[in-house]
Amino acid sequence: MASEQHSLVETILSHLCGKGIYGDVTEWCEMRHDCVYVVTCPECNDTFTLVEDEYEALVRRSEEVGLACGIRPLPV
Ligand SMILES: [Zn+2]
Repeated sequence: MASEQHSLVETILSHLCGKGIYGDVTEWCEMRHDCVYVVTCPECNDTFTLVEDEYEALVRRSEEVGLACGIRPLPV
């Protein structure tokens, strides 16, 4: 599970950072506070769906990498 999470995060980051762009993030919440995050590549409209844990890992990785690409945290 941990390695699958990791590879999804890396896949998204390398996709976006390969182009030097930020993905658009949409949060979808259903009942019972089940939220997923959909990251859309603005260039080719590829979408990546993440559960909350994966999204948080992606935010952390984006910050660690420190490049002007990846995703921005949602405004709180
Ligand atoms: Zn793309």
